[in-house]
Amino acid sequence: MITEDQRAEGTMRLIYTLRSNGVTDSRILDAIERTPREFFLDRAFQDRAFDDIPLPIACGQTISQPSIVALMTQALEVTPRCKVLEVGCGSGYQAAILARLARRVYAMERHRPLVRQARARIEALALSNIQILTADGSRGWSDQAPFDRILLTAAAEDPPKELIAQLKTGGIMVLPVGQSDEMQQLIKIVKTPQGIEYQELIDVRFVPLLPNVAEDVGD
Ligand code: SAH
Repeated sequence: MITEDQRAEGTMRLIYTLRSNGVTDSRILDAIERTPREFFLDRAFQDRAFDDIPLPIACGQTISQPSIVALMTQALEVTPRCKVLEVGCGSGYQAAILARLARRVYAMERHRPLVRQARARIEALALSNIQILTADGSRGWSDQAPFDRILLTAAAEDPPKELIAQLKTGGIMVLPVGQSDEMQQLIKIVKTPQGIEYQELIDVRFVPLLPNVAEDVGD
């Protein structure tokens, strides 16, 4: 268990690290400060919650590094009017940060046990503007489309066409793309009336975007 003092000290240290890594948006830093990362981790990893590193979560997946969460959120340019889709909800941490910045968040995850855990955490934090669905997110969420913003936290070889189709004109999508686990770039897509604009941001390493809902043992 983490004490209040440890949380306060850890949060200060993390915010300092994020600032040093180029996260300048005070709304994002504030959202991170108000969202306890240890809450999204198994007990065994909670004392490392404030380190700027990815950590294991259930189903062999990972919670991203906080500075990557922050930089992706910054690139997404979320405003309080935005309806956001996140593909790869995992622990629910990134979705919780988005929910503090956006009007509504729709998050998709292919592992049922992760969805159950994430829902419980989101409820405990009293974040009422998030909905989480067990489904293959590469197909998008057609009932709720179109979206102002789309964020993928799993890497595809190419931006999924169905997700681009579910992005509003003027909308922004941020995602890791790459052919392998080792070589991926974070890219930002802006859908303009004239077409799609691409911008490469930084090199990253994410788990792959996989098809279909996962068959988890004991589920
Ligand atoms: N954003 C998460 C990080 C999760 S890692 C967090 O804050 O904790 C990426 C997640 O994407 C994994 O949980 C993985 O199961 C999920 N994923 C991979 N392919 C997917 C797909 N097609 N649809 C939905 N989720 C997918």
